[in-house]
Amino acid sequence: MPRYEYRCRACGTTFEVDRPMARSSDPASCPDGHADTVKLLSAVAVGGTASAPRSGGPAGGGGGGGCCGGGCCG
Ligand SMILES: [Zn+2]
Repeated sequence: MPRYEYRCRACGTTFEVDRPMARSSDPASCPDGHADTVKLLSAVAVGGTASAPRSGGPAGGGGGGGCCGGGCCG
């Protein structure tokens, strides 16, 4: 099941919710009960897709993204 990350605009906390994709647009309530939340797009992991970055080492040089993601390596 996809995991979606939300941020509460009332208290600023971020939290994750596992929910079906069909409900991805539904509002999510903050763990503290606030309803004013926004969905973040950074932490969507579907099924067995690894969410970890594919960088080969701590010295990425680019700080994310990576060269091989954009096609410049191949
Ligand atoms: Zn909150």
